[in-house]
Amino acid sequence: MTFLDILPALKAQMPQLRGRLVANQPLAEFTWFRVGGPAQLLFMPEDEQDLSYFLAQLPAEIPVTVIGLGSNLIVRDGGVPGVVIRLGRGFGNVAAEPGARIRAGAAVPDVKVARAAQDAAIAGLAFLRGIPGAVGGALRMNGGAYGGETKDVLVAARGVDRSGRTCVFNNGEMHHGYRDCGVPQDVIFTEALFAGTPGDPAVIAAEMDKITESRETTQPIKSRTGGSTFKNPPGRKAWQLIDAAGCRGLTVGAAEVSQLHCNFLINRGGASAADIETLGETVRSRVRETSGVELEWEIKRIGVEQG
Ligand SMILES: Cc1cc2nc3c(=O)[nH]c(=O)nc-3n(C[C@H](O)[C@H](O)[C@H](O)COP(=O)(O)OP(=O)(O)OC[C@H]3O[C@@H](n4cnc5c(N)ncnc54)[C@H](O)[C@@H]3O)c2cc1C
Repeated sequence: MTFLDILPALKAQMPQLRGRLVANQPLAEFTWFRVGGPAQLLFMPEDEQDLSYFLAQLPAEIPVTVIGLGSNLIVRDGGVPGVVIRLGRGFGNVAAEPGARIRAGAAVPDVKVARAAQDAAIAGLAFLRGIPGAVGGALRMNGGAYGGETKDVLVAARGVDRSGRTCVFNNGEMHHGYRDCGVPQDVIFTEALFAGTPGDPAVIAAEMDKITESRETTQPIKSRTGGSTFKNPPGRKAWQLIDAAGCRGLTVGAAEVSQLHCNFLINRGGASAADIETLGETVRSRVRETSGVELEWEIKRIGVEQG
């Protein structure tokens, strides 16, 4: 599957662009599941200014999709039409600031934010150790684990909208919900300011070790997976509904419902995105039949099916 190469035409319209543009870039390698087709065009901006410039120049009819570390993502086999944006080095700074605060670029892995907080004796951010995404994904998904959620520690987030305008959202303006955020979908987050409370680095380190240990025993973290597949319905646990519907270990092709944690789907090697999505839909319909509950996807699915 390849898309029409729009790179030369776009490049000609953007003489001051500094970031990298690649046509038909395979995306599977950028996702935990390791499946899916290419991006029609992948753009890796140098910094926020470069991102703004690109978006302002990009014709309005070209769709834009942003990805982070691909830990909550299925890229469909037909790939993603338009531009996929992946933030890199220019969004990778993380530093402590006075007032038990941490400022982090949107491409900084959550675990690095947790470590920076520990180094600076800031408590309250250790839960980020348990989320294998980057800051941008944590903002969009209101990532949470072990009793903490992004919204609990966020002061403000910066972003750039589809027209290239930079914007700042304070905590309340994020309208965070369960694994969700109310900021318009076109906003690409570029930076976050977090705040914790003064803490003891040794105590924080022990908390992070506990999280690491717990994750290793309860989640298939060494597998090709996408984390929790479905949101927990109000008052229920998705994994219990999936288990009760007899779906633990269910397979479609090389896609499998994890034996260890049945709200996780796994690519055992050689699965297609369609296998994984079909497996997810099969689980949804079995749960609907056995319990009447409509599971909602937590994993984001992007792109088109193979034609
Ligand atoms: C083994 C495993 C365990 C997990 N455990 C947890 C857990 O305990 N708690 C939890 O909350 N999640 C968990 N997840 C899911 C996932 O790690 C989180 O949702 C994470 O926040 C996604 O971040 P990402 O960078 O990987 O984003 P991606 O998966 O790349 O993208 C997810 C969504 O965020 C959007 N996005 C990414 N970057 C930006 C940006 N800069 N601006 C705007 N939107 C952006 C994307 O468009 C997409 O809609 C787990 C996943 C795995 C594989």
